[in-house]
Amino acid sequence: MPERLVIVGGDAAGMSAATQARRRRGSSELQIVAFERGRYTSYSACGIPYYVSGTVEDLESLIVRSPETFRKNNEIDAHINHEVTAIDVDARKVTVRDLANSVERTEGFDQLVIATGATPIKPNWPGIDTDGVFGVQVLGDGVAIRRWVDEEKPTRAVVIGGGYIGVEMAEALKVRGMDVTLVDMARQPMATLDQDMGALVAERMRDLGIDLFLEEPVLSIDNANGRASGVITEAREVPADIVVLGIGVRPNVELAEEAGIEIGTSGAIKVDRQMLTSADGVWSAGDCAEKFHRVSRRGVAIPLGTHANKEGRVAGINVGGGYETFPGVVGTATSKVCDVEVARTGLNESEATEAGFQFVTDTTDSTTRAGYFPDARPIKTKLVVEKQSGRLLGAQIIGEEGAAKRIDMLATALWNGMSVGQMLNLDLSYAPPFAPVWDPVLIAARKAWHLVEETARPKGGTPSPSLGEAQRELRRSPEETMQVDPE
Ligand SMILES: Cc1cc2nc3c(=O)[nH]c(=O)nc-3n(C[C@H](O)[C@H](O)[C@H](O)COP(=O)(O)OP(=O)(O)OC[C@H]3O[C@@H](n4cnc5c(N)ncnc54)[C@H](O)[C@@H]3O)c2cc1C
Repeated sequence: MPERLVIVGGDAAGMSAATQARRRRGSSELQIVAFERGRYTSYSACGIPYYVSGTVEDLESLIVRSPETFRKNNEIDAHINHEVTAIDVDARKVTVRDLANSVERTEGFDQLVIATGATPIKPNWPGIDTDGVFGVQVLGDGVAIRRWVDEEKPTRAVVIGGGYIGVEMAEALKVRGMDVTLVDMARQPMATLDQDMGALVAERMRDLGIDLFLEEPVLSIDNANGRASGVITEAREVPADIVVLGIGVRPNVELAEEAGIEIGTSGAIKVDRQMLTSADGVWSAGDCAEKFHRVSRRGVAIPLGTHANKEGRVAGINVGGGYETFPGVVGTATSKVCDVEVARTGLNESEATEAGFQFVTDTTDSTTRAGYFPDARPIKTKLVVEKQSGRLLGAQIIGEEGAAKRIDMLATALWNGMSVGQMLNLDLSYAPPFAPVWDPVLIAARKAWHLVEETARPKGGTPSPSLGEAQRELRRSPEETMQVDPE
């Protein structure tokens, strides 16, 4: 008899685990069954805003693999419209509800992967279940929103919540020609950025014609004839023909919790480095699983597709009899609203404080190409750097085309525990169409290094010897250096 692997949740983490396990063990050795409560498997939730805006025309292009493809190409038995309602770890079985036929049955497993993702936060506001109010989490939500926009032709949209999903949805609805308002109880959109950087995003969004009402808790959603007609905040009523919720998510852990599986301090399922939970033969990956943050050294719940795919791969390799570990995350993320690109990695100021670091910060303005080159765009880079050691703790970028992906250089430096002193002479590429001679990342590192050196030096004394000779040679100001063009 082959062993039986059951997967709960048929998207990024679950199906990555399934396909990796299959690569290592054929169907005569391992039977793989996946249950997905929605209508789609292996889809790109990240593409939802672009499907709603029409940038991505075709829904099919957001579906990486259908259940049919899994069956045909991978011998994975994937069931859509099937919700797992209970896990019995001791009896090695799950209870599954066939949602199309309202029939419940039990299915046995030898190994289990819990990949249930995250649950959108849905406050208890009066009117929240009215037609025309939408959450954004699974592909079905994107389909429902686009249908409403196409068929009902709303002209006024309110997005509640200014996280990256809210901001991307605000852009999508703006692109569809609506008057868009974003309401948030926070002081700024993109609350994972520091306040100074978030305030810039707010300013740019207003420039793009999106109204922002910040620090305004929502009280209820008004309706006319059973359809959303406005959002009532503490300060006003904002008329709306469509309301989109982007209030954030929490790890979807109820099934695991009820099964007695340990939950970590972050609220996500506790896993070891192989993605094994506290229960023997039960693995977890993706948004529902806790991650180790390599900078704060704490367990975190950060819902990102990048992590979900990698964690699913690790779980699948281990289920398949291999050995793989997941080394943790630094929380690198990027997003955009119209032509404004936003990115972050590592810790922001409040996270660094909470993790017990003493640090300095520096913000640098530069351009994405040589300043004289056509289409050079502004880029603002903020670094959070540990005092004394100069170790990079976090970075944030706001800019235009060509800005955001520069966060990956900073994420790589962060991943490797580099100090801004070590980053100064990184051999990064340069040509006028791609960067100034000192890439914005290097200018930022250099400015931050100066600051670290200043704060490390006793008043009126010489620079700290720990910073090294090569670094001391580069004590000229970045502005001074930027004048030097090797061409
Ligand atoms: C609009 C949007 C934009 C995003 N953009 C980005 C981006 O640009 N970059 C990025 O890195 N990340 C992005 N993300 C986040 C990314 O999509 C998620 O981190 C990723 O999908 C998580 O994968 P997962 O497999 O852990 O969970 P999910 O993709 O949420 O999949 C979990 C699946 O489990 C199913 N499920 C849950 N409970 C049960 C049950 N009891 N029985 C059966 N099935 C169940 C759900 O229906 C769901 O399909 C975005 C998310 C959204 C919503």
